[in-house]
This record gives sequence, structure tokens and C-alpha cells, in this order.
Amino acid sequence: MSIEFEIINEIFRRRAGAGGDVLLGIGDDAALTSLPAGSSLVTATDALVVGTHFLPGAPARSVGHRCLAVNLSDFAAMSADPLWASLAIGLPTFDRPWLEEFAEGFFALAEQYAVRLIGGDTVRSNTLFAAVTLQGAIPDGAGVLRSGARAGDIIYVSGRPGDAAAGRQLATVDSEIPECKVDTQTPLVSQFYYPQPRLAAGKILRFIASAMIDVSDGLHTDLGRLLAASGVGASLDVARLPLSTAIRANFDFSTALEFALCGGDDYELCFTVPRDKISALEDCAAMADCLLTPLGEVCAAPGLHWVRSGAAYIVPATSFEHF
Ligand code: ADP
Ligand code: MG
Repeated sequence: MSIEFEIINEIFRRRAGAGGDVLLGIGDDAALTSLPAGSSLVTATDALVVGTHFLPGAPARSVGHRCLAVNLSDFAAMSADPLWASLAIGLPTFDRPWLEEFAEGFFALAEQYAVRLIGGDTVRSNTLFAAVTLQGAIPDGAGVLRSGARAGDIIYVSGRPGDAAAGRQLATVDSEIPECKVDTQTPLVSQFYYPQPRLAAGKILRFIASAMIDVSDGLHTDLGRLLAASGVGASLDVARLPLSTAIRANFDFSTALEFALCGGDDYELCFTVPRDKISALEDCAAMADCLLTPLGEVCAAPGLHWVRSGAAYIVPATSFEHF
């Protein structure tokens, strides 16, 4: 075994833990885990690649946090309980301080949600990347899908979409190859570097939401996917969007709108609630740990249309690409 691998083993295995539902963790050819009785296994994978999903020079702690957060966000959107993570990392050079900081970000979030690292792979790669496969459980038949929205349901969004994209803009040095400006630490920038997956909200919505998706590619695109999967549509007023005071202070209204609708990297939840469950939602909204804002109503005619001051608002097609 190489010295590099021994060090990686020290960094990751040390905090991985075993016991309980992890019958065999890091160190053998594969991990063994046991699923709670009456549950379905839930699996999601998301990879972060430098230059595509994070900036060259981004804080290693943020990369460690985000590679798990993006998967936790998918679990929140299914209303599933995360249990075990597997981590594949590709490193151009062996940089122990970078890896230690990465592990800090990863394990701080993993411990917050009692997720255990049960394995992974470490490879040399010209391109820095971190890919996480997250597994967990959901009571049989309980997952919230994208396809359950019906005409008359109310559409909600969690948190304040747009903040992460605004933070990404503030953190990016304008140059031919965008690079990370590490000295900017406003609330918007930390929303981009350290998104908080909405697991508490996702869990209370298990028996309340008719459909749900997480907003990683922008509210317009992701809500459009939910509506298409459900075979329904919506017409919404942009005035309902819960823009933060921080985004309004840093950007003009039109730019803030574009960030909120197509900026991406929000990791908020967008979901629909049948009218007879609105009071149940209001009863437990305080447990969601985040703002839940009604945006409008699902209609039978397909398509997603936005309105601004009574006129059609055309969403910019590809306004904010991931660098
Ligand atoms: P093999 O070549 O047999 O797949 P590896 O040397 O890749 O073995 O991995 C040895 C052990 O270390 C395995 O249990 C694997 O899951 C774990 N492992 C490797 N890299 C990581 C990592 N980045 N994070 C967590 N566990 C890892
Ligand atoms: Mg391997």
C-alpha cells in the first residue's frame, strides 16, 4: 500500500466509524450494511468537478461540504433518510493539507446528519473531482416523487432561491478562467460555499407534499421538470419570489430575479401541496427550520409561465451558466 493511500486511510478512516447498521466499513473490498426492516434502499450519486461545479481555488472545506450536501439535497427532495456515503476522489497532486481541510468540510456535515462514510476510491486524475454515492432508507412506499402534482395544488419553495448564484458571482474573479476570490465571506457567498440541505423540511413533507424536487439547476428549470413529470402546468408571479435583503442590496431587481429563477446551486426544495393538506403544513412548518413560501397554484394546462407586473416575464434562456 502506498504512503499516499495510508495517509488517505488515516484522514478518512479515522472519522468513518463502524458498528450499528455498518457491519463492515472502510478497509475491505466492499462495505456491508443492514437496511432497517420495512424500508426501501435509496441511492443517489452526484459528482463535483473542478471548473464545472466548483471554482479552481475554492476552499477545500467547501468542496468537502458541497459534495455531500448536493446528495443530501436529493435525499431531502425524496423525503428519504440518509445513512451511508461512499466517496470517490480524483487528485492531480497529493496535497495533504488540502485533503484534511476537505475532510473537515465533509465530516462536519456528515456528523450533522449522522451519515457514515463506508468506502470509496482514491485516484490520480488531471482533473480534481469528488463524487459521492449516498445511500439511505425510506419506509416502503413513502418516497415523494416529481410526478404527483395535480391541478389546484399549491406550489412552495424553501429558503431564498438566488442567494447561492449571487454568492457565486461575488466569489468569482472576472478573468478568462474564473477563479475563486477567497477573501469574500458575505452571507451570499457562504450560501454558495456551504448550502444547507433541507432535510428537516423534506422529512415533514413526507405525508404532505404531492410532488417535490430540489432546486439545483435554478427554480425555473427544476419546477419545469416537476410540472412536466406530473403532466401539469403553472403561471406564477415573480413578485411572490422570496428575494433576500442581501441579494437586493447587492444586485438590481432584474439581476436578482434572474439569479432566483435560473442561477442554480440553490439546493432548496420546490414542492406542491394539495389544498386539504395546507393546514397540516402550517402546523408543522416551524419544524422545517427554513422559510417556506407559497408561489402559486398548479393548473391543468402544461407549461410554466411567469408574470411580472401583469405582463409575461420571459425567463432568460441561459443567463448564468455554471462557469
Ligand atoms: P481496492 O483497490 O481493493 O478497491 P482501495 O485501495 O481502492 O482497494 O480501497 C481500500 C479501502 O479503502 C476500501 O475499503 C475503500 O472503500 C476505502 N477507500 C478508498 N478511498 C477512499 C476514500 N476516498 N474515502 C473512503 N474510503 C476510501
Ligand atoms: Mg478501490
